[in-house]
Amino acid sequence: MPSVQLYDTTLRDGAQREGISFSVVDKLHIAQKLDELGIHFIEGGWPGSNPKDVEFFKKARSLHLPHSKLVAFGSTRRPKGKTETDANLLALANAGVTVATIVGKSSTLQVTQVLETTLDENLSMIVDSIGYLKTGGMSVFFDAEHFFDGFKADPSYALRVVEVAAGAGADCVVLCDTDGGTLPGEIAVAVEAARKVTNVPLGIHAHNDSELAVANTLAAVKAGVTQVQGTINGYGERCGNANLCSVIPDLKLKMGIDCVTDEQLAKLTEVSRYVSEVANLIPDAFLPYVGISAFSHKGGLHVSGLTKWAESYQHVDPTQVGNLPRTVVSELSGKRNILYKAKEMGLDLPLKGREAQKLLEQVKLLESRGFQYDNAEASFELLLHRAEPDYQPPFELVDFMVVVEKRRRSPTKKNLEEMLSEAMLKVRVGTEVMHTAAEGNGPVNALDQALRKALLQFYPSLAQVRLVDYKVRILEENVGTGAQVRVLIESSDGVEEWRTVGSSTNIIEASWLALADSLEYWLLKQEDK
Ligand SMILES: [Zn+2]
Repeated sequence: MPSVQLYDTTLRDGAQREGISFSVVDKLHIAQKLDELGIHFIEGGWPGSNPKDVEFFKKARSLHLPHSKLVAFGSTRRPKGKTETDANLLALANAGVTVATIVGKSSTLQVTQVLETTLDENLSMIVDSIGYLKTGGMSVFFDAEHFFDGFKADPSYALRVVEVAAGAGADCVVLCDTDGGTLPGEIAVAVEAARKVTNVPLGIHAHNDSELAVANTLAAVKAGVTQVQGTINGYGERCGNANLCSVIPDLKLKMGIDCVTDEQLAKLTEVSRYVSEVANLIPDAFLPYVGISAFSHKGGLHVSGLTKWAESYQHVDPTQVGNLPRTVVSELSGKRNILYKAKEMGLDLPLKGREAQKLLEQVKLLESRGFQYDNAEASFELLLHRAEPDYQPPFELVDFMVVVEKRRRSPTKKNLEEMLSEAMLKVRVGTEVMHTAAEGNGPVNALDQALRKALLQFYPSLAQVRLVDYKVRILEENVGTGAQVRVLIESSDGVEEWRTVGSSTNIIEASWLALADSLEYWLLKQEDK
C-alpha cells in the first residue's frame, strides 16, 4: 500500500453540488473510471438515506474494480438508540461492501446544539456504532465531523473523540473541515495534536469554502495523515471539496508521494473531463493540471519562449497528467504562435515570415469580427490552408436562400400551427454547379440537409459525418436581437471529432460558416489519407 490512500467521495459529497444529479448508471460508470485512475476507496453513497444508493450498491456488486474498494457511508446510531435496530447502521451492514465510513460529531457545540444530546452519549454513540460494524467484520473509517472547529473551541473534547473512535477499533479517523473555514497552519497544529493521542491512521476531509481545500489537504499530509478524501474536479456541497485532480498530481509530482502509478496519473485529464461530461457540466477550462487552458499559451512572449524550450512556462510536463500543451491563437498572439500552432498540428506549411505576418493580420481581423479559434482548431487549420496560394477548396458556395414559415392550417384552431423551414442552395464542385433544396426542422437543419444533398453526389463518404454539438453564443450583450453571434459546431465521423466556428450578426450565416468549415475540413482530411 502506498503511504497515502486516496478516498474519492464524488458519488456522495460531489453529488451534493447544486446542479448535479447522477443516475445509478452514471454512478456505476464513474466508479469504473475512478478505478482506472487508481483510487483506493470509492464512497458510493449513503444506503441508509435513499433508495437510489441502495440500488447502486446492489448493482455495483457486478462491477469489476481491480484497484478500488467500494465504501458505504452512514452515520453513528441515534442518541439513546440501539445499534441492532438502527436502520442506518443496518443499511451499511447490508450494503454488500467490506468498508463503511460513519460520520459522528467531534465538536461540543455541535453535540449539544445540533444533536441535542450529552457529550458522554455522543461518545457512546461513536463507540457502539464502530463496535457494531467491526463485529460484523467490516473495516470502519470514522469521519470526525467539525473536528477543526471543535478543536478550536474545545480541544480536549475533539481529541477525546479521536481517541475514543480509535479505541473502538476504527481503521482510520478522518478529520473533517466540514465548513471549510480553517487555514493550513491551523490544520497542521490540529493534526499534530491528534497524532499525539493515537497511533491509528488519520485522514483529512476538507471543504473549499475558503478556497483552501487542496492546501489544507497537503498541509494535513505533511503533518502526518495518510488518507486523503476529495472529489473529481472538486465538486461538492457549496464551494466544493478538495479537488483530487489537483491533490493527486501535487502529491505525486511535487511531494514525491507515489499514490498512483505513472500510467494512472496519465488518465487524470480524461477522468476529469469524463466526470464533468456525466455531470452535464461544461468542463472548467481553467482547472489546474486538467483544464484545457492549464497549459495553453496566449501571450506572444510565452509562446516565443516555448518554441525555444518546452518547459519555459510550464510547471510540469502536461503529458504526465494526460493533458496537452496548447497554443492559443488570439489577438494577443505573435507571429510565432501561428508557426508553432501549425507545427503542433503537423502542418508543414511553406509559411515564410511575411506570409505568417499576413495570416496573423487576418486572424486578428476575423477575431475582431467575433471568430474565435481557441476551441475551433479545424477552422483555424482551414485558415492556414486558405493562405496557401494554390489552395483548391473541395466545394464553394454560390448562393443560398432559406425560407422560414409559420402558418395555421385552420384560422380558428391554434393547435394546427406549424413551422416550416426550407433551404435552396447552389454550390460549385470543380466545374460543376449543383442546385439543391431541402426541408428541415429549422433553418440551419434545412441548410445542412441541402448542402449534404449537393455534396453527397460527389463525396458519398460524407454520409458518415454528423453534428454532435451546436452552440450559439451572443457576443455583445445589451444590443438585443441585433447582436453579433458566434456559432460553434462539433462534428464527428465516428472516429474523430473536430470543432469549427462561424460568426455574424445573422445567425443563419454564422451557422453556415461553421457548417461549411466542418464539411470542408473533413473532406480535406480524406484527401490526405
Ligand atoms: Zn463533506
